[in-house]
Amino acid sequence: MASVAVVGAGVTGLVTAIGCARAGHRVTVFDRGPVPNPASASSDQHRALRVLRPDDVHGTLRMAEARRRWLELESLLRTEIFRPVGVVTAGTPDELAPVFDTAGRAGLPAVAVSPDALAPVVFPAGTAGVLDVGAGVLLAERFLRAAAEWLAAHPAVTLRPRCAVVDVGDHRVSAADGTVVDADLVLVAAGPGNTELVERPVTLYRQTMVYLRPPPQLAGWWTSAPGVGRIGAARTAWLLPPGGGTLLKISSDAVCREVAATTERDRGPWADRLLAEPILTGAADYAVVAVRDCHYAADPVGGGPMLVRIRPSVWSRPACGGTGFATAPLVAEEILGAVMEVKA
Ligand SMILES: Cc1cc2nc3c(=O)[nH]c(=O)nc-3n(C[C@H](O)[C@H](O)[C@H](O)COP(=O)(O)OP(=O)(O)OC[C@H]3O[C@@H](n4cnc5c(N)ncnc54)[C@H](O)[C@@H]3O)c2cc1C
Repeated sequence: MASVAVVGAGVTGLVTAIGCARAGHRVTVFDRGPVPNPASASSDQHRALRVLRPDDVHGTLRMAEARRRWLELESLLRTEIFRPVGVVTAGTPDELAPVFDTAGRAGLPAVAVSPDALAPVVFPAGTAGVLDVGAGVLLAERFLRAAAEWLAAHPAVTLRPRCAVVDVGDHRVSAADGTVVDADLVLVAAGPGNTELVERPVTLYRQTMVYLRPPPQLAGWWTSAPGVGRIGAARTAWLLPPGGGTLLKISSDAVCREVAATTERDRGPWADRLLAEPILTGAADYAVVAVRDCHYAADPVGGGPMLVRIRPSVWSRPACGGTGFATAPLVAEEILGAVMEVKA
């Protein structure tokens, strides 16, 4: 049995903690807030899991593996966390061809979708859709709550909520309350907070999201609707459908901006700008229920790696960008491999 210390109880930390506990290791999870923490990047109604990555067969197969692991977690936690509704990407024929090609080479399904089949969604002129059949919606907050409960009930797991970590060394984690925990392996998965603990530059982004309730006559249509991406004026908008207790959510890169800190104030007309995007047919019939900003960190160079070893026993999830939720089981898998290596 090895001991693993996890800094951060977002999706990365919780999925990794579950994997380590199931493999028979002792795990301590620290978070500076409650567990789960509503202020974490992971805390939202839903996140998309896309399987198909155009021109990247290996990446596509890895995402299919991530999906398989999410389904395993769903069985373990005995609660619906994945809605297999698929995700449609809009594109011109030239843009969609590589998606079908990659799907064919990976042996995974992709289906052409006519904009008429998704009439409540505005497709940019000259585009149609490809449905990533294996993709879907992860019910993020539902997963975080179920994972925290599962971990709290596990005898080999210690949860340390409201316990900020101030220093990470080889085989050691120091908390603000003066406690020091020794571990065979340390994972720093503190989201945008990673930079305070690990010297590695990241770019911090803030993105505005608007949550909508569809008009009653479309409520039934939306219950089985897929996610849709690459829509909007500049084709950088996306939507996640309602279902499983969630609202319809829209956002766009047009309302994503770089910030210096999560606490930095900005008062731009972000929600109005987002609501002006051509995303929904008859948008005025949709009720705005909430508006929210969310932060994520990305590596300044090309999105960056999923995981970095920064000391012999310390690993960091530096910057996860737009797929950080969906890929969390792949991080957990790598950490489990590293635990075996450290113990060998
Ligand atoms: C608008 C938006 C849309 C997104 N869409 C998608 C999507 O569709 N699909 C997808 O896969 N991903 C998506 N992402 C990215 C994804 O949500 C994040 O990459 C992922 O949730 C990050 O999880 P994490 O566990 O690594 O970090 P976080 O969720 O940020 O968790 C880090 C935790 O560490 C804690 N912490 C920080 N500092 C300390 C410290 N010093 N001591 C102790 N604890 C600490 C924090 O309190 C927090 O709870 C999106 C992100 C945003 C912002």
